Amino acid sequence: LHRCRSCEAVERERTLAMIKPDGLSGNYKEKIKEAILGSGFDIIEEAVVHLDAERASLFYAEHADRSFFNSLVKYMTSGPVCAMVLESPDAISRWRNLIGPTDARKAKTSHPDSIRAMCGLDSEKNCVHGSDSPQSAAREISFFFRDDKSGWRLCFH
Ligand code: GDP
Ligand code: MG
Repeated sequence: LHRCRSCEAVERERTLAMIKPDGLSGNYKEKIKEAILGSGFDIIEEAVVHLDAERASLFYAEHADRSFFNSLVKYMTSGPVCAMVLESPDAISRWRNLIGPTDARKAKTSHPDSIRAMCGLDSEKNCVHGSDSPQSAAREISFFFRDDKSGWRLCFH
């Protein structure tokens, strides 16, 4: 836990969560939001958007050289996604723990209570995304949302 140096309060952190196309088409949205709120996260912002190939490729730019990249982009553009900004102490690692390992098939045996175990299918169609570091959380939150004086806005439609 990160604590404020002067007041000792636990510092809150934000992360980018996303319900992927299989999560929305499989009607897991409410179940996943219940798990989020039941684990003590606040949902600061939420938006349903349909990524095009350009935006999905940008979001997953770190994987551009991987053999599964084209398939990943096709999957991520197959329907709308729900992007959410979650906030809590240690939000980044807590959300990663709650979603479980990347391969949903493996998650079913190693982390049976995880969201990917409950809602995902395999190493690609794993239902949810979570930022993996403070740097990627900052990048991914600003990929979807802008927080200016007039409040939160979606960066695109
Ligand atoms: P994450 O951080 O747990 O989501 O996993 P990665 O950053 O390694 O990969 C990003 C996304 O690419 C994953 O969530 C999957 O949807 C997909 N992916 C990862 N590994 C594979 C793979 O081996 N095969 C396929 N088809 N997709 C994968
Ligand atoms: Mg990742």
